[in-house]
Parts: sequence; structure tokens; C-alpha cells
Amino acid sequence: MKFFLWCAFILLVVLALRKKLRLWLQHQKNQRRTDIPTQTQVEMRAKHPEAMLACAHCGMYIPVSEAIRHTDLDTHNDVVFCSTAHRQQYFSS
Ligand SMILES: [Zn+2]
Repeated sequence: MKFFLWCAFILLVVLALRKKLRLWLQHQKNQRRTDIPTQTQVEMRAKHPEAMLACAHCGMYIPVSEAIRHTDLDTHNDVVFCSTAHRQQYFSS
């Protein structure tokens, strides 16, 4: 009787794990689909390239959407950085 109960328990655990694994694989598959840009998105990016701005600290060019902006309150000038670390270094020097 005890053996039968153990077998039933192990079977339930295996079934539950299979269901979890199936859901996880489905989730991974859906995530991969959304990461891949569609043909329209690829064409749009090729036709309308994003503007690039130079980091005020290191001079590296970065896309406008990824740039970290800082507006000087006294001069109202926009300064752009590639990272928060470079923004801190720029103002600490
Ligand atoms: Zn930089």
C-alpha cells in the first residue's frame, strides 16, 4: 500500500513538473518572437536612421534614445552622456 502511495505521489510530481516546463518553454518561445524585429521595423530603421549625439565626457557617439541628457539650469544648455558614470565624472572634474 505504501509503495502504491509513493508511486502516485511521484507520478503527480512528474506531471506537475512537465506542465511547468511546458509553460516555461511556451513563454521562452513567445519572448524570442517579440525580440526579433519585424520586416517593417527593419525597413523603417534602414530608411530613418536614429540621430547620434556625442558624449560630453568621452566623445563616443550614442543614439538619441539611449543618451542621458542633462540640462544646465544656469545656461539652459543640454549636455549628453553615454552613461550615468560619465555624467558623474564630467561634473566631479
Ligand atoms: Zn561617455
